Amino acid sequence: MTPSVTRGKGSVPMVLFGIPYHNLTFASTLEWIDELVASEQSKLVATANLDFHRVAAEDPEMQRILFDADIMMADGFPMVKLSSLFGPRLKERVTGSDITPMLAEHAARKGHRLFFLGAAPGVAQQAADILIEKHPDLNVVGCYSPEKADVITMKSEVILQQLEETKPDIMLVAFGAPKQEKWIQMHRHTWKVPVSMGIGGSLDFIAGAQLRSPVWMQKLGLEWLGRMLANPKRLAGRYLYDALYLLGAISRLTAIRVSARGKLSTPLDEAPEGKTLLGMESVHARMKSLKTLDEADLEADRLREFSDGKNLVLMPESTGWLNSVELGVLVLLARELRKQNRTLLVYAPSRRVERLLNAQGLHQCFAIENKPSDVIRRMELRAAEAISGAVTAPEAGALTLVLPAELTATNKEQVSSRLFTHWRENGRPRKLSVDASATRFIDCAGLSLLVALKNRADEEDVPLSFSGFSATVKQIIKVNNQDQLLEK
Ligand code: UDP
Repeated sequence: MTPSVTRGKGSVPMVLFGIPYHNLTFASTLEWIDELVASEQSKLVATANLDFHRVAAEDPEMQRILFDADIMMADGFPMVKLSSLFGPRLKERVTGSDITPMLAEHAARKGHRLFFLGAAPGVAQQAADILIEKHPDLNVVGCYSPEKADVITMKSEVILQQLEETKPDIMLVAFGAPKQEKWIQMHRHTWKVPVSMGIGGSLDFIAGAQLRSPVWMQKLGLEWLGRMLANPKRLAGRYLYDALYLLGAISRLTAIRVSARGKLSTPLDEAPEGKTLLGMESVHARMKSLKTLDEADLEADRLREFSDGKNLVLMPESTGWLNSVELGVLVLLARELRKQNRTLLVYAPSRRVERLLNAQGLHQCFAIENKPSDVIRRMELRAAEAISGAVTAPEAGALTLVLPAELTATNKEQVSSRLFTHWRENGRPRKLSVDASATRFIDCAGLSLLVALKNRADEEDVPLSFSGFSATVKQIIKVNNQDQLLEK
């Protein structure tokens, strides 16, 4: 059967160094994109290279975006070459720069409407003109290059208005990574564009504003070298850090692979699989050992069916190591459950497997616990978590905003309107405290709310304090250069 992103077959990704990749070829990627266009939902397509790994290792928001991408292509030789050490081999390197012109040809045949966003002024239009000359049936419904600005302060209203008017099926966003992925994630719930894809410098290559490395270099996996020689000032540092990241990651994983397996923790309880755990809305199950993507698809289906509206506590059968497809099942289920406001918890992995999960940053994707009492505590906490921010007035004239467990693009407007409505109705507060102690995760949309709050407080001379930022939230604030929030 042909793999399919929406039918579930082939949708289990392979997790390599913390990023879940789909096992695609150029041809199957185009088929998957067709499916996403037909789904009429707002989906994210990403192509990750080694630089994405380094960025995601330091940026929990970027890692979350990559966990959540609906199609993830491997746009880098190292991952394709190394994939067979961790499970099945990735079929092919699917680069953003190659898929963009192919997608234009495919869209012309299928009648998909394209929108080109980003690159320097004029470049997107130039690329569109060149592609239309090659494929006269191509329907480019809009091209727009906004002024350069960071993702948090960038003015996006004009773009959103254009998308509303031109109704593209596919939007190609050339802002460079991670800005393009963050921008898409910040706004995609507001639009009806089925497919949004970050394409880096692809429009520059089509327009001839930048030259790609010669084909022989691409074939030898040396495209990065050609790019670096053409632009050493900008790229030498990036590639050096990327190489150091890869060496560090390989040595960390090797050290874990040869370490002692460690003791296994207490079995959860004697309840048969699928039975409600300790009277809570949770079921527990063993995840089978898996070797192939077909096995992984079947196992994901089995566990999905059986978690059936409940939280899922999973015990991996493999205690020595988890390969890329076993990790893929965990990442896929964690993402599906999170979207339904449920939780995946990995219970009692061996010490070695736990170290493997942490080294790949997967503790950002699901919780890991080793004692039954901790599982219960964790589930109780989740159940009690506020879904949206509460505004309270602890004393006359003072205002406290309690941030939710996750402050993201999906609930930012709700939290913002609650606070500012209170502000409007009750007048300028004497002081404002923002309590982030329950907040595990924030994205750029959430950060833009905190920045807006700070600006408003400064303008109206309201003393403002933030408290309770977790290490993860602090890290996200720092990588987005919003340290001003930590000073309050
Ligand atoms: N770019 C942009 N807005 C920005 C930053 C970059 O439109 O704020 C454009 C830039 O002009 C270029 C593209 O993003 O056309 C890709 O940049 P880069 O080469 O850094 O991307 P990469 O392919 O390395 O991800």
